[in-house]
Amino acid sequence: SVSMKVIEDIAGIRQEIKELKLQGKRISFVPTMGALHAGHRSLFHMAHEDADIVVVSIYVNPEQFGPNEDFAEYPRQLEADLDVCKKENIDIVFTPTDQIIYGDEKFLHIEIDTLADHMDGGSRPGYFNGILLVVNKLFNIIQPHSAVFGQKDIQQFILIDKMVQEFNHDLDMLMAPVARAEDGLALSSRNAYLTDEERAIAPSLQASMQHIRQKVLTGAREVRELLETQKDELIKKGFKFDYLSFYSTIDLSPISMLKDGEQYILAGAVYAGKTRLIDNLLIQL
Ligand code: AMP
Repeated sequence: SVSMKVIEDIAGIRQEIKELKLQGKRISFVPTMGALHAGHRSLFHMAHEDADIVVVSIYVNPEQFGPNEDFAEYPRQLEADLDVCKKENIDIVFTPTDQIIYGDEKFLHIEIDTLADHMDGGSRPGYFNGILLVVNKLFNIIQPHSAVFGQKDIQQFILIDKMVQEFNHDLDMLMAPVARAEDGLALSSRNAYLTDEERAIAPSLQASMQHIRQKVLTGAREVRELLETQKDELIKKGFKFDYLSFYSTIDLSPISMLKDGEQYILAGAVYAGKTRLIDNLLIQL
């Protein structure tokens, strides 16, 4: 939109939101870390479908990066991102600094029970504590009627959904399907790190999952058997293997035997060189 507002400070965005709410507008919020791609744009579309006003935040949250992770290298391209937001008719872009989000005081943290023990939570200690901390803040600052997150980060969605329920945030959680490249690779800001060789093998993670899904659909139920060859295949392709398994959609615990009538998450993570790739499928039996 021609009148897109870019706001850095909390008082400023609160004032905008207050006026919009007085006008009876429904507000949907899409948090991002920028380096916007078609995956983010699909979230913006879902937000526009749901609400009158779409607020996007662009903030690379230091609290969700481990000491040996890519916080310093993470792609930052605010001007290009603002152009994308304008083209997508975003109404407000919130671009806070670390000082605005965290200030000087940090006495409180959010702790997570067993929901963060496996999948990305198992591989990246503290990752989801950092995400819940920042999303909790962003929800309190913006107080949207709905928020849109991607299935790409399904453990994130489930944890934030639990936070909304348990901490009584008054908003609807919407999940957008995984946006993919034509060869199946899940879109990610981190794909920009991939060399040509790494990009060439990157779709194999999704291909492995499709292969496993086919076996499930033809009756296989024992998870160890289902995964056996796929892990080796991925390593042979040249990935460093992190995890690949089935998880409960209820409590995110690993599953060893699939049961008819249940829904599962088939989720995996590998490294192509230094680049971490994640993906998942929801499988209903
Ligand atoms: P990020 O900027 O990577 O923190 O992602 C911001 C939001 O976009 C999160 O809710 C992600 O799950 C979502 N997202 C990122 N990549 C994709 C994708 N390929 N498909 C769907 N949603 C995505």
